[in-house]
Amino acid sequence: MFSRDKIPATRRWVVKIGSAMLTGNGQGLARERLTTWVDQMADRLEADTELVLVSSGAVAEGMCRRGKRARPDSLHELQALAAIGQMGLVRAYEDAFARRGLHTAQVLLTHEDLTDRTRYLNARSTLRTLLGWGVAPVVNENDTVATEELRFGDNDTLAALVANLVEADLLILLTDQEGLYDADPRANPDAKLIGEARVDDPLLLQVAGEGGALGRGGMRTKVRAAALAARSGTATVIASGAGERVLERIGAGEALGTLLIPAQGPLAARKRWLAGHVSSQGSLVLDAGAVRVLREQGRSLLAVGIREVRGLFARGEVVTCTDEKGAEVARGLVNYGSTELVRIKGRPTSAFTEILGYRDEDEVIHRDNLVLI
Ligand code: GLU
Repeated sequence: MFSRDKIPATRRWVVKIGSAMLTGNGQGLARERLTTWVDQMADRLEADTELVLVSSGAVAEGMCRRGKRARPDSLHELQALAAIGQMGLVRAYEDAFARRGLHTAQVLLTHEDLTDRTRYLNARSTLRTLLGWGVAPVVNENDTVATEELRFGDNDTLAALVANLVEADLLILLTDQEGLYDADPRANPDAKLIGEARVDDPLLLQVAGEGGALGRGGMRTKVRAAALAARSGTATVIASGAGERVLERIGAGEALGTLLIPAQGPLAARKRWLAGHVSSQGSLVLDAGAVRVLREQGRSLLAVGIREVRGLFARGEVVTCTDEKGAEVARGLVNYGSTELVRIKGRPTSAFTEILGYRDEDEVIHRDNLVLI
C-alpha cells in the first residue's frame, strides 16, 4: 500500500497547478510564485524524476490581457480568452525553465485525445519521448476545440488522464486550499484536514462538497480526479501551492495536504486498464527467446521475436501472445496493426523504415502495456 515514505523514491510525477494559484485576482500571472515552482521542479528533474506539468490559467491570463474583470458566461469567449492567455502562460513557463537551462514543450490535449486508442498511443509516445529527454511538457486542455475543463474541471480531470497516460507514480494537485477537510472549513471552524485516505473511501465524495466559483475545479472534481488517477496505480496529493517549497517538501515525504492512496498497485491497475481496451481476436506467436525475455526480464516485445501473426487487428488493440505451442504468455496493446506486423515480424527494428516506409515505436508491445499471464 502506498504511503508518504514511498514518495521520495517516486520517479514519475504529474504536477497540476490551478488557475487560482497562478493568477492573483486579475493581476495576471503570479510570476514569482511560478518561478519558485519551476525551480523545485527543475531540482526534481535534475534528480532524475520525470515530470509532466499540467497548468491552467490560460483563461485567467487572457482576461487580464483583455482587461476583463468578470469571467464571461459564453463558452466561445472563454475559449478565445484561453487562446490569448495561453501565449502568456507558455511564455512564463518557458522563461522560468530556461533560467535553469531546461527546455520545455507545449502540449494541448482534449479528453478525446486520451480515450481514442490511436491518438492515445500517439500522445503517449510523444510525452514519453519528451520525458526521456528530461523535458517537462506543459500540458493544458486545447480550449479552442474542447470545453470540458472550461465548464467543470480547471484541468483536474485532464491531469488525472495524463497521469494514466504516462503511468505516473504521483499526481500533485496544487490548489488554493491546504487539502481536503472533513467539513467545509469556511463554514465550520472545527473542520480538520484529512492527512490521508484511501481513494475509494465513500466518505470522501461526501465531504468534498461542490466546487468553488461556478462549481469548477472544486474538491469534488479533485477527489474524482484522484479516483481516475488511481486506475493506473497513481497516488494523489492535494495541497496548497502557496506553501513554502511545497513541491520539495511533498517530494521529501512530508505530511503536507491530503494524500489519496490508490486501492491497488500499478500492476493490478494495469491489468484492469488493459481489460478495458478493445480486445481483438488477434494473436502473436512468439519464439522461445522472446517468451524468455518477456517472462524473465520484463522486457518489451520486439518484432524480431514474432514468428506468426494471426487475425486482423489495428494499432492500439489488445492481442494475445502465445508460445509456439499455443500457450498464452502475455496480453498487450500493440503499436502496429496486423498488416504491418505481417511485414515486419522476425525483423529488427532498424529495418522498419525500409519495409514500411516509416517507423512508429521501436517496440511492438511496450512493457508498460503488457501483462504476463
Ligand atoms: N484550460 C483552462 C485554462 O487553462 C481551464 C481553466 C478555466 O476554466 O478557467 O484556463
